[in-house]
Amino acid sequence: MICPKCGSNNVLSKAVSETTTEGKTKGFGCIKACLGYLIFSIPGILCGLCGMGKGRTRTTTTTKVVNICQNCGHHF
Ligand SMILES: [Zn+2]
Repeated sequence: MICPKCGSNNVLSKAVSETTTEGKTKGFGCIKACLGYLIFSIPGILCGLCGMGKGRTRTTTTTKVVNICQNCGHHF
């Protein structure tokens, strides 16, 4: 490994992992369960309760290698 900036081969390779979490919480709770109960009776409240507290979160982990030149400090 040679630094593209200064040409030194004193380069340190470092693995950096980044974790990104993105998610949405469903706004489906008691009110909708009650409405469901009023409109659809028992199946409605079941549907309303099913949607409670459920949120989808997606975690993405990206690992990338960063090379740091020990001579000039250039990252590439
Ligand atoms: Zn360098």
